[in-house]
Amino acid sequence: MANIYQADSTMIRNHAGAQTTVIIVGAGFAGITAAIECRLNGMRSVLIEKYKDSFEYGDLIDFYPNAGIIIERWANGNVAKKLLDICVRNAQCWDYLTHKDELIYSDPYLITAGDYTKQFAGHRGQMHKIFLDYAEEVGVEFKFGCEVIDYLETENTAGVELRSGEKIFGDCVLASDGPRSIARQKVLHLEDKKVNSGYAIYRAFFEINDEHRLDPRIKDFCRKDVDTLKIWLGPDAHTLAYSWNEGKDLVWVGTHKDMTDIKESWSFPGDKQEALQEFTGFPEQFKALVEHTPPKKLTDYKLVWRDALATWLSKGKRIALIGDAAHCHLPTSAQGGSQAMEDATTTAICIRNAKGDIPLALQVMERIRFNRSHVIHQSGIDMRDDWHKCDFEKYADHPDSIAQMRTPWIIMFDPQVNAEKHYTALAKDVLKGRKGTIQELSIPADGNFDHLKPGNPWKPFDWTVKEHKCEWCTRTNAAGRSRQSSL
Ligand SMILES: Cc1cc2nc3c(=O)[nH]c(=O)nc-3n(C[C@H](O)[C@H](O)[C@H](O)COP(=O)(O)OP(=O)(O)OC[C@H]3O[C@@H](n4cnc5c(N)ncnc54)[C@H](O)[C@@H]3O)c2cc1C
Repeated sequence: MANIYQADSTMIRNHAGAQTTVIIVGAGFAGITAAIECRLNGMRSVLIEKYKDSFEYGDLIDFYPNAGIIIERWANGNVAKKLLDICVRNAQCWDYLTHKDELIYSDPYLITAGDYTKQFAGHRGQMHKIFLDYAEEVGVEFKFGCEVIDYLETENTAGVELRSGEKIFGDCVLASDGPRSIARQKVLHLEDKKVNSGYAIYRAFFEINDEHRLDPRIKDFCRKDVDTLKIWLGPDAHTLAYSWNEGKDLVWVGTHKDMTDIKESWSFPGDKQEALQEFTGFPEQFKALVEHTPPKKLTDYKLVWRDALATWLSKGKRIALIGDAAHCHLPTSAQGGSQAMEDATTTAICIRNAKGDIPLALQVMERIRFNRSHVIHQSGIDMRDDWHKCDFEKYADHPDSIAQMRTPWIIMFDPQVNAEKHYTALAKDVLKGRKGTIQELSIPADGNFDHLKPGNPWKPFDWTVKEHKCEWCTRTNAAGRSRQSSL
């Protein structure tokens, strides 16, 4: 492959004779970003992924400027340019509508013009390929098709055991093995306490063809001059649809009550008739998109909640959980991918600053990231509940509150500047053995989610999804679907 990112390779700073080896488990956006950022910060990155080539799975993923700023710095902006070629790049706003198609609020797509090269919404698989190409260019070592079955730690090393029996050791391990992380059990010795959130989400990505274009109901989504982004809110359900690439690429998703306890998988097939039934009261243009979806392109993804962890670090502090393994977001936080990337870059910066002292680096990383990621993680449930209440009058005075997950404190944020800024003080705290809970030791989260404001009776670790549980959460396997999936 031609070296398309040549300019960037020179930026890798090699610390001669003191190169740190970082083993990264899972090539999702947390793992792949960590592998890239560790390389760019002078380390050896070994990226281990269970699947050989499952990366085309998934549909829409959004990255906001708090993550896009990391991408924008790669290869002098060339990775961002490549992403923009395949992503939404011509949108004016997100239209928030009631399920009766009445406009509630048009939220500008970009908060500032400079966000154009920092905000990406597109097909997950296509975007992932661009990340992979760049990782290869900067010298990440790939071990794909290798499943990690155990995490290992000694005083001076950390490593993994593969299903093949091979053991691989380095200076530290980043467990970015996603929501179904085995690191939670193997490293933190926790049970997998997943809770059915009570909802699942139909998801589809397909190309709009000439036949679809004949249907006047979807004319907004066929526009060549502008990308169209709409979100409809209804009782206990919400849907969204994006079209981009001159009206050729189309994604729709629909969050609905999970009445039958489906399997947690990115390839669980969805049923069009069931989807149409779920969204009976929704606008014709949305229903038309469902009707036009090629059956094989529809999946139904179970939204599982996992409560916040009290720590992301192993006993010896050489293994850290990052990304969804540490904090598995609901889509309504709109920050799953972006928070994963924030973890990844913060970790690489801390390892570089700690000059080989991995336990120090990972403890500082946790203190930089903990409160911020925690608040954003928990906001996903609040946002969804808020939308599903359909109290549309509430938005009359503050229509922008409908898009709370895009407030400036979350997205107008530079995680790299933030990590550099706080490293020294937090490292001193760690070295001095400052005592306190992880929330007290971590830098405070910003934030304006009402119930999270200082003084409000919110207790992070007493808070679990159970307090939010709806009646459906307790109804499992009511009908028991038999369709199976591979991922
Ligand atoms: C196939 C797939 C499709 C997705 N599609 C969407 C989407 O359309 N929209 C959206 O918003 N989000 C999607 N996501 C989730 C989204 O990418 C993440 O929420 C977010 O980017 C955080 O990523 P992560 O790297 O922490 O976790 P993930 O993206 O879940 O990545 C974890 C990775 O670890 C690998 N892994 C797990 N266990 C092991 C093991 N034992 N050994 C080796 N490797 C292991 C997994 O195969 C996976 O590649 C998808 C995730 C996956 C895996």
